Amino acid sequence: MHPVTKDAPSDPRDWTEEEVRARILGLKSRLGRDLLVLAHHYQRDAVVAVADAVGDSLRLAQQAALATARHIVFCGVHFMAETADILTGPGQSVILPELRAGCSMADMATPDALEWAWQRLTAVETGRVVPVTYINSAATLKAFVARHGGTVCTSSNARKILEWAFTQGEKVFFFPDEHLGRVTAYELGVPLEDMLVWDRDRDLGGHDPEAVRRARVYLWDGFCVVHQMFDVEDIAFWRQKEPGIRVIVHPECPFDLIRAADAHGSTEYLARAVDQAPPGSKWAVGTEVNLVSRLAARNPDKLVVSLSPHQAICANMYRTRPLSVLRVLEGLAAGRVENRIRVPEAVAGEARQALSRMLSLS
Ligand code: SF4
Repeated sequence: MHPVTKDAPSDPRDWTEEEVRARILGLKSRLGRDLLVLAHHYQRDAVVAVADAVGDSLRLAQQAALATARHIVFCGVHFMAETADILTGPGQSVILPELRAGCSMADMATPDALEWAWQRLTAVETGRVVPVTYINSAATLKAFVARHGGTVCTSSNARKILEWAFTQGEKVFFFPDEHLGRVTAYELGVPLEDMLVWDRDRDLGGHDPEAVRRARVYLWDGFCVVHQMFDVEDIAFWRQKEPGIRVIVHPECPFDLIRAADAHGSTEYLARAVDQAPPGSKWAVGTEVNLVSRLAARNPDKLVVSLSPHQAICANMYRTRPLSVLRVLEGLAAGRVENRIRVPEAVAGEARQALSRMLSLS
């Protein structure tokens, strides 16, 4: 049993963090195996502390696919809960504690804009184009890639997925993150001059048909506001201040920053690199600050700093508070499934094909 203070104020907003945590843990014990709480690495510490599993998009998608719990409370953003809903069975529900937690990158590629781009692109004689969507996208985009022989990738498996895509066609249309697409294709040997940035608001992405014909990779002009914050000057600053420091960044960062860093990789990669490093080593990490602070706290024998002097915080992830989790758990304990995320089966069926293909290639 987790004790709850007897004389707690009646307004939950006045409860202490400890009080909320104790109530969440009490409800988790009560709901038992009916409940699984998943949290993304970019969630606040107090949310991560009550999760059953913490991971990046790939790890959480795999956890959701294997889950047997009736209810999955997904502490992350909307597209992640959609993915979990697609991968779970009909008797399971996926709950997003904060319905306003979207992802600005995912919102940069709408189904209408993508359909228009695809029609215009494939009207030009280009050879076979394989569409690949980053997992940070709406379920409708995942369904789109399934319909057109493509698949989904995460930052952990982007290289494998693009390798596969180039066995299926001569060209790749990558969306919505321009930066992940560029660095992955570049490292597979595609020169920068063979890539086009697709301006989503302009006909043929703002290019003439000949340029479209020549290109091998089309990069949707979407980006992550958090990972755009880092600057090459930040790298110079830390190298001068802390000689020997290793700079590691997420592949959603701009290309010149990734090239100037010592290494880049998914959120899981960044966490592992720091956790497994020898004592006394120094790290400047270019990703969301909640994860970097947690890495610093659990590695007191190393120097771990955020690469940026600014607060590189994902406002979308930050919307989920322990109180948001408590509210949906109270609903479940009372027999109400609140904040359920449901992808219509017509979309989910196709999106599932694309995600299953990704998971089998990962
Ligand atoms: S960190 Fe960027 S890509 Fe990830 S959820 Fe936040 S806005 Fe979206």
